[in-house]
Order: sequence, then C-alpha cells, then structure tokens
Amino acid sequence: MKLYSTNNKDLRVSFKEAVFNSMPQDKGLYMPVEIPALDSDFIENIEKYSLPEIAYQVAATLLKDEIPVEDLKAIIEDAINFEAPAVKLDDHTFVLELFHGPSLAFKDFGARFMSRVMAYFLKDGEQLLDVLVATSGDTGGAVALGFLGVPNTRVTILYPEGKVSPIQELQLTTNGANIRAVEVKGTFDDCQALVKQAFADDELNTKFRLTSANSINISRLIPQTFYYFNTYAQLKKQGFKDVIFSVPSGNFGNIGAGLLAYKLGLPVKQFIAATNVNDTVPRFLQSGIYETKPSTQTYSNAMDVGAPSNWVRIMDLFSGNVDELKKVVTSYRFDDEETLNGIKAIDSKFDYVACPHTAIAYLAIEKFRNENPDDQSAAVFLSTAHACKFPDIFPTNIADKIEIPVQLKALESKAKHADQLSVDFESFKIYLLNG
Ligand SMILES: *Cc1c(COP(=O)(O)O)cnc(C)c1O
Repeated sequence: MKLYSTNNKDLRVSFKEAVFNSMPQDKGLYMPVEIPALDSDFIENIEKYSLPEIAYQVAATLLKDEIPVEDLKAIIEDAINFEAPAVKLDDHTFVLELFHGPSLAFKDFGARFMSRVMAYFLKDGEQLLDVLVATSGDTGGAVALGFLGVPNTRVTILYPEGKVSPIQELQLTTNGANIRAVEVKGTFDDCQALVKQAFADDELNTKFRLTSANSINISRLIPQTFYYFNTYAQLKKQGFKDVIFSVPSGNFGNIGAGLLAYKLGLPVKQFIAATNVNDTVPRFLQSGIYETKPSTQTYSNAMDVGAPSNWVRIMDLFSGNVDELKKVVTSYRFDDEETLNGIKAIDSKFDYVACPHTAIAYLAIEKFRNENPDDQSAAVFLSTAHACKFPDIFPTNIADKIEIPVQLKALESKAKHADQLSVDFESFKIYLLNG
C-alpha cells in the first residue's frame, strides 16, 4: 500500500513512513493510493470467519506488500485479542460493544494495532521509539495500555492534574515498565503545548526518536475497519441483509474507518454520524458550509471536537463529491439534555446501561427511523466506551447497575505513580533528557 497526502495526490510514501510520520509535512493526511476491493467470495462467506480471521483478511488486502502475511497474522492475533459483540436489544436493534479491550474504549483497536506495527518496523538494534502523548483522558489510556510491554518503545503521557477521571488516572499511572505518566500542573492545552514544543526541539530530536502516535495515524484507522466487517458477519449469520451503522463521532476517525470498510466492499446501507452540540459535520451536511467552531464541553466529552481532524479523509474517500457522500452518510446532533434522556430511554426500554457517547448514537437511530418509517434494516449503534468510565453522569438508579469490569478491578490494586511537572518547557526538556 502506497499513500498520498490529501494535500498532494502526487506524493508517494510507504506504509512504514506514514506510520512513523503520522502526518505529511504539508499538513494533509495520508490516504491509500488504491483501495482494493476485498475478495467477493470472502464477503459472501464472511459469517464463517472469526474476528481475528476477518481482521487478517482485511489487513492483508491492504498491507500484504508492506508486511509479510505471516507477520501480519501474528500482529493481529496479538493486537485484536478481545471480543466485539453486537448485542441484540430488540428485533432489529443492536449495540456493538467496542469496550472489551484493556482501556475499556474502542480506541484500543487502533492503539494496540499501531503499537505492534511500530514495534514490527523497529528492526532489531534500531533506536528506541519514544512516544509522547498529551491526553485529556481516553486517548492516553488506550495508548498507554496499547504500548505496555511492547519492545523497543517507551511512552511518556502528559495529563492535566485533577482533570482526568479517577478511572482514567488509574489507567495512566499504574503501568510502570515502558510507560511513564507525567502529571502537569496546568490544563490539557498546556500538556499539548509541551508535547508540540518537544517535537520542535532540535536537541531532543537529535537524542531521541520521537513520535506522537496520535489519532490521525493511518495505522489506527485500518484496524477500526475490522469490527465493521465482523458486525456485518454477525448480522448476516442471523439472516439480516441490510445494515445501518450509527457512530458517535468526534474526530471522525471511527466513522472514517466505517466508510473505508464500505469502499473496500462492505455492503452497508447507511451510516449515521451522531454528534453532540459540537456539530460541524451535521451543519455541513445541512447547509453545504463547512465551518469549524471552538469546542464546547458536554457529557460526551470524547466527542467535544469543533474541527474534526479526520473529516478531510472522508471527503477524500468520496473525491470531494458531497452529493455522493450524502447518499451514504446522514448526520444528527444531540445536546446534553437529550443525551441524558437517551441514557434513561435505553435503560427503561432494554435494561441496558450506555455511556453518554453511546446514547447519542442510539438517539440518532431513533431519529433516522422516525424520518424513514419504512426502513426495516438492522440498525447497529456503536458503543465506544464502557459506562463505568463516566460515573458522574448517570442518575443513581442507573449508576448502581453498572458492573465494574475485570480490567478495572486489576488496576485498583496497583500502585499509582506519576512524575509531577510545571507547565515550564525547560523543566520538561530536562526531564526527558535525564530520561
Ligand atoms: C474518541 C472517542 C469517540 C470519538 O471517536 P472519533 O473517532 O474521534 O470520532 C467517541 N466515544 C468515545 C468514548 C471516544 O473515546
């Protein structure tokens, strides 16, 4: 697979280069030059395959020229070692649980695959890879747990003191080994500024091999296609043909992967991009005007994004043709009050506890069905995180039903360790140099 930049279609880089650069210098995003169709026999018989087998087929279709298939198989078996069940709630409504990985959020798919691909490309004897990440919560946990124990890598995670939830803090600070947590006396923006300055610093770049491993990395997008195929397989097994996916969206990486799956040949009838009041995309699909906004804080805080970084990828997949895009993608937005009502509706209708992000995806299905009363498709809403990560949002009667997953129980007994730093770059630099 060769890649170009969305800002320069003539550029050609290898997958390895795209993985280590994350972003082309022209500030576009990497996209595959060719999106080959998956083998039609495979799609027709997809219900016979398991998640790792499906993942392997999809990955090999894209990457077999870059990573020998046996190695790819090993990477997938190691990275995708947890389930992604589509749980049936009624006749034709399903919740796709993407939170069974170590950090209890769908970002585990991307982070685990990326870390192993990076480790694979770091041949024996190569310089250690230093991953620097600033996090406001979820990304940090997925990256920390994704890289934990991965050879030839070291991760430094900066998080704002007092501004991540207790569970997120546990996920960041109890790892040890090749993961260091740095608690910064400042905001998330301060953390991000420190990381950016480190990437721009000559001395640090001479001494270390730095990478950001951030969410626009192409190696995070590819593994997120796996669960769309796998869900289709699960539904096909139950006799469904027409499938709709509703995706709670912030940076639009998750739904971008769904649309990549569609372009690879997955027969999906409709995608719904569900957002909170950070509604740049639903407004765009309504008005034709793409206007970003500063982000607004909501209950579904992992979706508080006013300028979705993966949107250019989606436009690129449709060659900039908005009419074609609108045939496949619908978009709705919901505010916090609606989100809370959605959580309550899912609880009373299905006796199921959904996190606020997940609730928004559910609401979008309800709205789609109201607008398309004759549609009989199986509708799947993606559950991007386990409800236990957002304990403060639920009314007590619902919060009491949340079961604490084993991943978390294991962390609770571990000692917390974080290094404390101010927002001053010089002290961060000395910290890294003394590494
Ligand atoms: C990151 C995240 C999202 C948003 O996903 P994008 O790929 O950025 O659209 C939604 N829900 C949860 C729980 C997340 O962590």
